[in-house]
Amino acid sequence: TSNTARFDVQLAREPLSSEERAKRMQNPGFGKIFTEHMVVIPYSEELGWGKGVLKPYGPIVLDPAASVLHYGQAIFEGFKAYRQPDGHVKTFRPESNAHRFNASARRLAMPELPVDLFVEAADILIRQEKDWVPNAIGESLYLRPFMIATEAALGVKAAKEYLFILIASPSGAYFPQGVKPVTVWISENYVRAAPGGTGSAKCAGNYAASLVAQTEAKAEGCDQVVWLDAVHRRYIEEMGGMNIFFVYKEGGETVVVTPMLTGTLLPGITRLSLLEIAKKLGFRAEERRISVDDWREAILEGRMTEAFACGTAAVITPIGTVKSAHGEWQINRGETGPVASQLREALLNLQHGVDADLNGWMHQV
Ligand code: PMP
Repeated sequence: TSNTARFDVQLAREPLSSEERAKRMQNPGFGKIFTEHMVVIPYSEELGWGKGVLKPYGPIVLDPAASVLHYGQAIFEGFKAYRQPDGHVKTFRPESNAHRFNASARRLAMPELPVDLFVEAADILIRQEKDWVPNAIGESLYLRPFMIATEAALGVKAAKEYLFILIASPSGAYFPQGVKPVTVWISENYVRAAPGGTGSAKCAGNYAASLVAQTEAKAEGCDQVVWLDAVHRRYIEEMGGMNIFFVYKEGGETVVVTPMLTGTLLPGITRLSLLEIAKKLGFRAEERRISVDDWREAILEGRMTEAFACGTAAVITPIGTVKSAHGEWQINRGETGPVASQLREALLNLQHGVDADLNGWMHQV
């Protein structure tokens, strides 16, 4: 089979008992429990991508001079595998993640991985770990592909050697409190991404730079940060690890709106999918520029009825309260609104195979 052609297989010598696995999969939370295997594919400038290997999950050895540890050439992706009603497993739009991974690679001067190799690596790992895919709706096996520069060299330049690694983690709800609306903090002291920077790439440094703002948000009693644009410091971009949506009532119509892509925010795959799902459900769906002042005024005037965050990890999470250094406002009395609920259910039903996959978004593993 093609598996043996592109991948060597080294299975764990002492697999976990099904009892032990079941125990670890109870209330897995997000990103804390890892499965028993991983995929590793080496790259060198000289040889290109080498033979991949499916091997037992475990520590990796790096030279202390590996350039990722000094200059941060590190990118990653995140997508999920869902149990289907017939017991099979499918992933959601994995080619989209592969394309975004390569866009990140280009921005960080790293090598691109062929899209079919990215998808095949995931298929091989998921097939091996199929018992780690949870059954409940809202639960899934989270896939985390990443690439790091491994060349031992302290000169500041694009490395000549890299590792692509894929790990998997059974995941429950991203926010421990469930779909309860979150409180968000508008960051005015920090900027996530500037024009020409790395905002639309999924690189490790973006997240490192965001943590101090997340700490500030926590200190202000908030769950998540909302980022503003770097130039005007006025327009809503996205959240820490999620895109953002607003629901307006305009002339008797329900309009689902998300900030347009500016090059400084991450083009979320959930975001893109929800724009299409919203249209299918009969809403108007638009990408616009929305300022903080627009947000507050639309709420005060009753033109905006809901706001929510969306992403692979958290699906859809309603925003109940918005806080900033300049004031605070509530959305939909701090409760989950009907549009967020309807979109969340439509997306989950599609991913879990309850509804038909009319767009061909699901990939059979
Ligand atoms: N923005 C940021 C900064 C993110 O890290 C993520 C998660 N990948 C998203 C948005 C949502 O993207 P997606 O829907 O593809 O998960």
